[in-house]
Amino acid sequence: MHMKHRTRTNIRLALRRKKVLARIMVNYIKLMQKKLVLRQADIAITFDCQLGCKHCSISMLKKEKQVLSLEQVNKVIWQLKKLGVTNINFTGGEPLLKQDVYDMIKFAHSQQMFTSILSNGFMLTDDNVRKLKKSGIDMLIVSIDSADAESHDDNRGKDSFNRVIKGISYAKAHKMEVMIDAVITPDNISDGDIKKQIKLAKELGVLIQLNVPCAVGKWAGKDEKLLSKDDQKYFRELLKEDGVRTDRFSNYLSTKCPAAVERIFITAYGDVLPCPFIHISFGNFLKEPLGKIWKRMLNSGMFSNNTELCLAGEDREFIEKHIKPTYDSGEHPYKYDEDQQ
Ligand code: SF4
Repeated sequence: MHMKHRTRTNIRLALRRKKVLARIMVNYIKLMQKKLVLRQADIAITFDCQLGCKHCSISMLKKEKQVLSLEQVNKVIWQLKKLGVTNINFTGGEPLLKQDVYDMIKFAHSQQMFTSILSNGFMLTDDNVRKLKKSGIDMLIVSIDSADAESHDDNRGKDSFNRVIKGISYAKAHKMEVMIDAVITPDNISDGDIKKQIKLAKELGVLIQLNVPCAVGKWAGKDEKLLSKDDQKYFRELLKEDGVRTDRFSNYLSTKCPAAVERIFITAYGDVLPCPFIHISFGNFLKEPLGKIWKRMLNSGMFSNNTELCLAGEDREFIEKHIKPTYDSGEHPYKYDEDQQ
């Protein structure tokens, strides 16, 4: 029987990380008891980046402020573990620009977490890939904007396509799990480039994750960048292909938007957001325990985990009601105020 690429990857990871698997089983028991369990946290460990993507959703979060230290990141990982988290994704900015990144991965690994890192691939030399492997990374995720080197470089910077492809080959040579992270847009649907990116991932023997364009960062207010109803249908057709996935597929029980319910995002300054694309902060973990902030998020009534749509990119009602008011708030991320609700 032909097993799907994603299933094969999951089995390999589970066999390699049996103690994490045991923690996941405990989470399923809790879910059966109708308890809520947090599954994944994305932690931005820096907002620095060498590139300047035209669609960057994160650059607006960058401030002239001290970012979290190794000790603080380890502390957040420890608190996340208490809330049930089994997947930590290190992100940025470009996480490889953070000197302590390998120690952070090591610590998350030691806490029985599946670890991944989302990189622009610019610094994926053989040496850095080796260090990632040694620190215990389970999945290397690299961003690609186009199957065409020139278009990718046009968005990101000279030589970035070449470097990311080389990085993938080093990672494959070290037998690492690799996934391409791509944004499906009205433009790359109409010119066929998204299909070519999927073909490229298959040729490279890696998974590809499709994200929908979101109404934040450099695309804040640019409704024309969002998927139309027909584009959304096409996106869901593509998700049926072997090796193609989206973030909702990692959920425990459903394929609904996991923001706040199963997934949270910690910024490089400790602000706690429901997902990297919803820039509403429900508190800062340097000031209060994470559990308290998560509860506030859940009690806000904004997230019910009942839609197959991406709240930040596809759910027009959510975008109008909760995301657009943050554009002119004068602060980024927008601070949720429970007293004003
Ligand atoms: S809002 Fe979109 S990107 Fe964020 S968790 Fe939901 S589906 Fe994923």
